[in-house]
Amino acid sequence: MNVAIIGTGYVGLVTGVCLATKGHLVTCVDQQSSRVAMLQRGETPFFEPGLDTLLRETLASGTFSATADTAAAVADAELVIVTVGTPTTEGGIDLTHLGTALNEIGMALAADDSYRVVVIKSTVVPTTTTRFALPLLEHASGKVVGQGFGLTMNPEFLREGTAVNDFQVPDRIVIGEYDARSGAAVQALYEPYACPKVHTGLSDAELIKYTSNALLATLISFSNEVATVCEAVPGTDVETVMDALHLDRRLSPVVNGRRVTPAILTYLRAGAGFGGSCLPKDVSALRHFGGEHGLSMPLLDAVLTINAARPQQVVDIVHAELGDLRGRSIAILGLAFKAGTDDLRESASLRLAALLLAAGAEVSAYDPIALGYAHNSVDPRIRIANDAPAVFAGSDAVVLMTAWPQFKDWRWGDLTTSMHTAVVIDGRNALRKVEWPSAVRYRTIGTAKAQHAVAAVG
Ligand code: NAD
Repeated sequence: MNVAIIGTGYVGLVTGVCLATKGHLVTCVDQQSSRVAMLQRGETPFFEPGLDTLLRETLASGTFSATADTAAAVADAELVIVTVGTPTTEGGIDLTHLGTALNEIGMALAADDSYRVVVIKSTVVPTTTTRFALPLLEHASGKVVGQGFGLTMNPEFLREGTAVNDFQVPDRIVIGEYDARSGAAVQALYEPYACPKVHTGLSDAELIKYTSNALLATLISFSNEVATVCEAVPGTDVETVMDALHLDRRLSPVVNGRRVTPAILTYLRAGAGFGGSCLPKDVSALRHFGGEHGLSMPLLDAVLTINAARPQQVVDIVHAELGDLRGRSIAILGLAFKAGTDDLRESASLRLAALLLAAGAEVSAYDPIALGYAHNSVDPRIRIANDAPAVFAGSDAVVLMTAWPQFKDWRWGDLTTSMHTAVVIDGRNALRKVEWPSAVRYRTIGTAKAQHAVAAVG
């Protein structure tokens, strides 16, 4: 099928490139001409494993192209997929980008008599497609939905860091449809994907996305609340508690004599809090949406409150180890909101850095992938180190905030010798298997017990 994708960020580009690998003729549109130029050269504007290779392959095969011209892309398309950002503000979901994109699409629809299906893939709160997108498209196009154009809501569940595989091997595809004709077009788009295709109304599709993210955020905050208990009660350890919890057969069933470990269990682990472009904003948006309908949302309130407190709890551990933080040098390991991405949006590392700076500490940071973004976008008071030894040298504590797998394999004994005081705080419980030299004081999330005696190195 001929497909136009409006908004070529994480979701738009992964969607476009992956659909192009299935033989669809995809044109990705972005308002940023520099981004379009990069894509035309075969360069991805962000880090996502496997995406650059597929971009170059689909460009070469002619199934993928990029442009800044929405009207031209829509003119050639049977399906127009909208993947612009929908950030959450104090006032709820911000539909500015969506409104602009839909207006441009509507005007392009008006240019001829062809029937096309508009697919809202951006995450939007229930009723947005019906009450916002539909009238806007009808007004801008002069056409009537169901006759002149079709309309669907098709939420995206990919996760940054594993986005290509998530898109290529989906758990399910949700097709919220205005009518059967619209839904059939999206069903045809996804024909190459062997997974359940769930046809729903438009608002159910919107709510399914928020429900999915709210559940994940709830599991994380639940685990972090258990960690808070463990941090207050010497002799308890959240990892021990969670390991045993996971063994409940309802969480990890035994199939043919072997225990299965579902991926959902990774969300039942304590850490320094969730971040990223989706969980915080989507939980906030759902909470706000409930409020607009006169609903109190006490569970989601608690999920966000617990999450907001986690970076401060890490600061409290740093403070317990070092005392007054004024003038102390604290190194943060990992700036991306999670491993596998260079996305810094709502990263817990940046919230920790802000708290440490406010406490008078000097903050440096290192990330294996997100350095390019970090140099341009973080608080200029954060010293960005270009390699691991540089971030350790002279620091009073290092705090691991992103669980990059390579951190586990570092020669911690060597690296910590250049520190002023050898304090390592593990905000993701990722280094528990490291054999620490006796000079290092290693502190974890979700435990009050000190595991080694502190010692000054230099
Ligand atoms: P993003 O900010 O990375 O990308 C949005 C892109 O849209 C930008 O490149 C921007 O320049 C472009 N854009 C904005 N207005 C435009 C217009 N009028 N015409 C052309 N281009 C325009 O956003 P994202 O992370 O890809 O998220 C997009 C949507 O998908 C959001 O609603 C988000 O909640 C949802 N989502 C994101 C993820 C994720 O992991 N990032 C996962 C699932 C769903």
